Amino acid sequence: PSRADITYFGAGPALLPTDVLETAAQALLDFNGTGLGIAEHSHRSELATNIINEAKADLASYLDIPTAEYEVLFMQGGGTGEFSASIYNLVGAWVARQHAAVVMEIGADDEAAAVAALRKRVESDLKLDYIVTGGWSLKAYQEAVRLLGPEYVNLVADARTENGGKFGKIPDQSTWKLSKDAALVYYCDNETVDGVEFPGFPQALAPGPDGTGPIVVADMSSNILSRRFPATNYSLLFFGAQKNLGSTGVTVAVLKKAFLPPNTVQPSPTLLRKLGLPIPPIVLQYEIIAKNNSLYNTLSIFDVYIAGQVLKKLLRTFPDRVDGQEALSAKKANLIYAALDAHPDVYKVVPDKSARSRMNICFRVTKSEKAFLKESTAIGLTGLKGHRSVGGIRASNYNSIPLEGAEKLARFIDAFAKA
Ligand code: PLP
Repeated sequence: PSRADITYFGAGPALLPTDVLETAAQALLDFNGTGLGIAEHSHRSELATNIINEAKADLASYLDIPTAEYEVLFMQGGGTGEFSASIYNLVGAWVARQHAAVVMEIGADDEAAAVAALRKRVESDLKLDYIVTGGWSLKAYQEAVRLLGPEYVNLVADARTENGGKFGKIPDQSTWKLSKDAALVYYCDNETVDGVEFPGFPQALAPGPDGTGPIVVADMSSNILSRRFPATNYSLLFFGAQKNLGSTGVTVAVLKKAFLPPNTVQPSPTLLRKLGLPIPPIVLQYEIIAKNNSLYNTLSIFDVYIAGQVLKKLLRTFPDRVDGQEALSAKKANLIYAALDAHPDVYKVVPDKSARSRMNICFRVTKSEKAFLKESTAIGLTGLKGHRSVGGIRASNYNSIPLEGAEKLARFIDAFAKA
């Protein structure tokens, strides 16, 4: 089949806009008449720096992220790397805060006493809060348990408890048991495997009237760039590029500058060792990546370039930036869900109505999923098989799925049910 005949609904890596790929293909051979391809130019060159800086600025502009308060970092290691990075860096920031408090209390002279007091605080007060609503937040939670030990990790809520042992609902926020002064409160905004999306910013985590709130970390790997969010409610958010932003190979972390020097300085390896806390690998240290404008070590400038081209296309397409994409994403998702809901005898949407993802539409076909997949593939609707851990059907409705693609899928859903 040719590219033009296919609408690919795979969950990631996902479809990329064809015109972006055409530009990138040319850039791979010869970037802007330099005779060298974009993947061959040094990451230390001025053109690489320009590509990084433009992508950062366009991302911030498209999403309304205030750059005076937030740093955009291009990282490596994927969303999975960020599960670990968020832990290391925000535990480090917590230790830095406690250290300052201990020094205020007992002075800076007696180092041994300060370490002893800090150790006590770590043992009694260090907590990381996780809200588990699907396979990915579960993995992040498990990474915290693996790196720190279960005694430091608080499972705020597990969506399976209220839902017959399965994911598919956001647990009632009034039951969330948040720790006092947690080093972080973590949630996944859109669960790619389970098709569960928070309908908006979780109110239980909202800042109070004085403007302060918990240290919120969100995984936005599979819904970034598809809707507006209140950026300043977050201390950290991250996402791999390979769904809505670009090609696999870069991960973006957006971090509040309050967690970077000079505001926060990470504790030394020596101190961490004395406290029995893990020492972060240097490539996962945000302050190192920030200090080097994402070029501490070799970064795939090609992938940043693709991300930059996707952002430029979004900014061209939607004069009202992310709000324009948000409206289109909702329209596409509504079309597909409406087609499914019209045939309750044939289709069952997996998650609860209150938590249906606009990005990953997960459903079961009571007739025959095999036939559904075979017939949809035959007309160019591909990548619809559900994640291997849950089965069923999953239509990933990312930004690059055109309205016509969503319409074609909705028509097929309807026709298959009637046949
Ligand atoms: N978080 C979410 C929501 C994801 O969908 C994925 C991957 O699909 C990940 C994290 C892990 O990302 P990576 O494979 O880049 O480590």
